[in-house]
Amino acid sequence: MPTFSLVVPAYNEEGVIAELGTQLGSLMDALDGDAEVILVDDGSSDGSYERMLEVARSDPRFKLVRLSRNFGHQIALTAGVDVASGDAVIVLDADLQDPPEVVLELIAKWREGYDVVYAVRDVREGDTWFKRKSALWFYKAFNRISEVQVPLDVGDFRLVDRRVLDVFNRMRESNRFVRGMFSWIGLRQTGVLYKREERFAGETHYPLRKMLRFATTGLISFSPAPLRFALRIGFFVSFFAFALAVWSLVVKLTGLYEVPGWTSIVLVVTVLGGMQLIMLGVIGEYIGDIHDEVKRRPLYVIGELENFPDMRQLPPRAIVADRRMPARER
Ligand code: UDP
Ligand code: MG
Repeated sequence: MPTFSLVVPAYNEEGVIAELGTQLGSLMDALDGDAEVILVDDGSSDGSYERMLEVARSDPRFKLVRLSRNFGHQIALTAGVDVASGDAVIVLDADLQDPPEVVLELIAKWREGYDVVYAVRDVREGDTWFKRKSALWFYKAFNRISEVQVPLDVGDFRLVDRRVLDVFNRMRESNRFVRGMFSWIGLRQTGVLYKREERFAGETHYPLRKMLRFATTGLISFSPAPLRFALRIGFFVSFFAFALAVWSLVVKLTGLYEVPGWTSIVLVVTVLGGMQLIMLGVIGEYIGDIHDEVKRRPLYVIGELENFPDMRQLPPRAIVADRRMPARER
């Protein structure tokens, strides 16, 4: 009998947790194998953690990981996957936008022998026109410049086989674009269409600013193309700037010079200045990435665990701030 792990990262989702618990509970009953849910509280500041504790205390199949602060969706997801022990691990959102019943279809495909079964958003009720369009453009551009191809209309809702996870768990980069990382691994992958629901309660945690940040992380960590592009533009612009310089020298020396070269100077200064700043910015993004990676910090810190009877069974990559002497005994 296979075992299943459902990994659910959640940040400030107090309005959803009770319903999530009920739905995942029935889903686990419907599965033909042992199942666990790994709830990851990504440093919520509302009552999410307390709600999750209630769920975990009433049903030991719900395990709870509380991160020491908010680390962001991609890291929270990684923390959950790190401690999951299933033969197949399914990642889904806490807000019930990813309907639990779709998990049965993912599992059916897994049984056919696929290593990764991702859920493809056929209908996207909960997403605005802008989000759908910008995502489409972004992933088309991404696939054009990246060697790794990410399927369109796919988020992190997916089932992953243990043999893929064994590889994934060894990819400890801190700038994480998880969907790209799974594509990078390859093996047998397929998609299942589903209807993405509206949020059960609460609001999105991905405003435009975070979406842009996420897109940049994805591009930077999967393609050196922006860097190469910067280099090409640099050459291209320098060529014309050089030609202009030669030309101005020639007209001056041959006496053809008429108007003081205000326009050309301004042109050269602004174009070159602008270009240089862009190039520096692009290079800066990569240096920022390198800076993050060379520190080799743990990806996250777990502050609290619930329903993990034996902490020693956790893999070393799961960093737990072990509380040897609880505050009440000090
Ligand atoms: N999330 C998280 N940490 C964060 C932001 C979001 O764990 O810092 C979780 C959130 O609770 C949800 C999932 O990531 O379960 C997806 O986030 P959200 O629904 O806000 O994104 P959207 O569906 O709007 O893209
Ligand atoms: Mg959502």
